[in-house]
Amino acid sequence: MLVSAMLLLTACPRVEPDGPDGPDVPSGPDDSWKQQASTQKLSGITYQLNVYSFADSDGDGWGDIRGITQHLDYLDSLGATALWLSPIHEAMSYHGYNVNDYYSVSSKLGTEADLKDLIAKAKAKNIGIYLDFVLNHSGKDNEWFQSAVSDPASPYRSYYVLSDNPSADVAAGRIDNYAGAKTPGMGQWYSASSGNIGYNGLLHFKLDASNASQPKLTVTQTTEAAQSGNTDTSVKWFIYENNAIRMYKTGNNVFEITLNINNNWGVLVKDDATQWGDHKWGAKAGDQVVTFGTPKTLVKGDAANDITFGGTSIQYFASFDASMPDLNYGPYATASESAAFKDLAGAADKWIKMGVAGLRLDAVIWIYQNQTDANVSFLKQWYDRCNTTWKASGGSGDFYMVGEAWCDNAEKMAPYYAGLPSNFNFYYWYTLKDRISKNKGHDFAATVNRFQNLFRGYRSDFIDAIKLTNHDEDRAASDLGRDLAKEKLAAAVLLTSPGKPYIYQGEELGYWGDKSKGDEYVRAPIKWTRSGSVPSTALNGKVDNAMLSADISVEAQEQNQASLLRVYRDFAKARNSWKALAKGQMEEMSSPNSSVALWKMTYEGQTIVVAHNFGSNTAAFTLTGCTTDKMIVTNGVVTASSGFLSLGPYASAVILQ
Ligand code: MG
Repeated sequence: MLVSAMLLLTACPRVEPDGPDGPDVPSGPDDSWKQQASTQKLSGITYQLNVYSFADSDGDGWGDIRGITQHLDYLDSLGATALWLSPIHEAMSYHGYNVNDYYSVSSKLGTEADLKDLIAKAKAKNIGIYLDFVLNHSGKDNEWFQSAVSDPASPYRSYYVLSDNPSADVAAGRIDNYAGAKTPGMGQWYSASSGNIGYNGLLHFKLDASNASQPKLTVTQTTEAAQSGNTDTSVKWFIYENNAIRMYKTGNNVFEITLNINNNWGVLVKDDATQWGDHKWGAKAGDQVVTFGTPKTLVKGDAANDITFGGTSIQYFASFDASMPDLNYGPYATASESAAFKDLAGAADKWIKMGVAGLRLDAVIWIYQNQTDANVSFLKQWYDRCNTTWKASGGSGDFYMVGEAWCDNAEKMAPYYAGLPSNFNFYYWYTLKDRISKNKGHDFAATVNRFQNLFRGYRSDFIDAIKLTNHDEDRAASDLGRDLAKEKLAAAVLLTSPGKPYIYQGEELGYWGDKSKGDEYVRAPIKWTRSGSVPSTALNGKVDNAMLSADISVEAQEQNQASLLRVYRDFAKARNSWKALAKGQMEEMSSPNSSVALWKMTYEGQTIVVAHNFGSNTAAFTLTGCTTDKMIVTNGVVTASSGFLSLGPYASAVILQ
């Protein structure tokens, strides 16, 4: 590697942005341009970090906000103009995506004062702070939800997707969250029973089945001893609690039994011990609660609900899992008038007024169950509300907001640009890793342009949030077979592509990991020094120590001129120093070699040629009509002279024209 570096230095003298290139080149070392990029937020590099595992300031095993503040120089060295923080609010889980209080800072992560201090100190380095805001669902422990399901008069009842008969309500179009769909796309209904609808004690059951299609069940409280199940198999009626218990025949079509009931959901009646379907009998929707001594007419099959002894049997809808009840914003066209919207917006207002510079919105395609038009309408209302607060608080330009609209393909995601100024481009990484694996770069620029043309169709000033991987995906290094040369290439491509690049915590160090043993393994702590410890309590110790004990620490890579971190820093510096890289329009150039990705970036009279070799063999070619003597930054083995360019395996060159 040293030989390669020396060859590179002798063959390609680099130009600096304050070099002799005329007035269209920014002056000063870097910061004047970086400030401009940061202010406009069109091209600034954003670093995505997991607050709980990035840096631990107090030794409690949890990363924290002060830990971020202590490492702002590191983030600055990566050219960051913004940080996307994982959710900082009080939440049920370490990752923060099941929020208990949107107005709070989790005590495990710090205080509001810590956040204000981070915002101020980051701003001094032209770094903005973006919060992760979870609008699709809250945590189940959120007091909004606890109140909603336990108190029929709760003011929070409208905040959630609740029903005592989901199938009927969905069929009748009464579930606003479905936005007209008959199936949710993802997620399911869960019982919100909280112990008050079941029963604990002796009950006598009397079933009158003289009308076989409308049997009547009378339940009474009793002090009689509980009976064991009848063994006379000629009787086909059962009370079902934890299992089916056969009743006793006491008259013509009359069956009875006394049982000691102890559960939190109620009972059912069955006419077969093991089969369900039409053998299940229960209460009609809306008439589930028993009045002791009063006969209840039963219905069967899908219409049969649990027969309960307390409050209403409420179910709630959750797109992800039972700990994350979906929030409800009413009919999408008027979502901003809903109580939940106003409350969440109030929380967002608090953070925007504090100085937060942007929001990352989680799981936006599920707010209205993958109904694109409904979600876009909602997001536009949400964005406008936050942008109004931003401007009223003295924010310059428009507020930044990026959505996680994780769709099957770019065509399905593109419409989300009608709602938000920026969206994550998952398809960028899918394309990049595919082309690197195939050693084919020739159509990369055309594919990126195709994505951007899709987005442009919905918003002329779209901000393409490009990325390798994030906290929900297998690590980029793992996808690339832990091949350092390919990891460096991916970094160089990311930081020379049009859009707003996101670097995910640890990606710059070559962290590997996949989700097969748990999400924690793609969320590893930063190893700051060779011998130091890492905060692993939040991750419940689920840390790949073999990786972290390799020579992968920040300290080790800062001392190694051939490290991946070095490539990130070199290319980040170039992006923040040259306006055509930061803000340029991409123009594909015809590839001289199927392994080579070749494009121009042009902005306000400045043109830069970008060349990457996706192949494992050297690619040598003439760059027709281009100069090759003003090299801005390179990676790998690069030689150039008089319009001729040679790129070693996985090498990159960025050349001023
Ligand atoms: Mg800590």
